[in-house]
Amino acid sequence: MIYSFDTSDPNTEKFLALLRKSNIDYDVIQHDGIVIHILGDIDHELQQKLKSYCKGRKPDTNLTNTPFVDFTIDGAPVIIAGPCAVESEEQIKEVTSFLAEIGVRYVRGGAFKPRTSPDSFQGTGERGLKLLSKYAEKHNLKIVTEVMDRSQIELVRRYADILQVGSRNMANYSLLIALGALDKPILLKRGMAATIEEWVSAARYISKGGNHSIILCERGIRTFEPATRNTLDVAAIPLAKQITGYPVIADPSHAAGRADLVPSLTMAALAAGADGVIVEVHPNPAQALSDSKQALTLSQLKELVEKIREFFGSNRKSD
Ligand code: PEP
Ligand code: MN
Repeated sequence: MIYSFDTSDPNTEKFLALLRKSNIDYDVIQHDGIVIHILGDIDHELQQKLKSYCKGRKPDTNLTNTPFVDFTIDGAPVIIAGPCAVESEEQIKEVTSFLAEIGVRYVRGGAFKPRTSPDSFQGTGERGLKLLSKYAEKHNLKIVTEVMDRSQIELVRRYADILQVGSRNMANYSLLIALGALDKPILLKRGMAATIEEWVSAARYISKGGNHSIILCERGIRTFEPATRNTLDVAAIPLAKQITGYPVIADPSHAAGRADLVPSLTMAALAAGADGVIVEVHPNPAQALSDSKQALTLSQLKELVEKIREFFGSNRKSD
């Protein structure tokens, strides 16, 4: 069970005292708010008492609204673009200045990378976050970057405007619970083998903590088809929107695994009602340290952005 409190709520102490008195184990996570994760088995009577102390950090408007105002503007699709990983200053400098030039307002880039092999490039950590921050600020871009583990939250939140939970971590419940204590949007990718129901349940681990700023991302699931890296589940887009009311975006790059299919999957996802897309781009895809096959070149991204605007409306150039 998960309960949440505002940091200044005087009932928190009474609630915890009652748990201790009842010999119930719990875990407390504090960021912008307090989330209490109860581990024991609690009977109905104790549950009622606990409930009487807890009104929740924020009203559970769960599944109905889009609490952060700035995500979609005039209904135009949100475009998030950037490299798979933050590699070097030159790379980030070039990509961010290009994004600003073509009016893309969100830059993506992993500083902590969940790589399949422990021998592969693991990201550049805080150095990468600092680079993102320096150039995002310069060009007035918002940052989307991955948090892989609960221990990284305090660091990543200092730099990220939106914290990404990757496919491999969709079921990392201890991470999700802790993210519920933040007041920052969470981009929750679908697990590569997760059903829609499991994905929606994962989102509830965050919203239970009082953080309702959740964006879902369909990034392709594993199927029997090896010709693409994953299979973009197009039906999941309108369905997840219907069930949750959260914005749903698509990641055509990880779905396709190859750059040439990215434009088609982007258009398919947007036609299915996606609120936006997150696309990988690299100044020199062949040299990319991760996911090089699926990265668009800068000029391919420009073409795609123009196509999106032509079909689905324009995106405001800057704030
Ligand atoms: C990524 O966005 O670079 C990434 C690792 O994606 P996913 O978690 O969807 O595999
Ligand atoms: Mn990637």
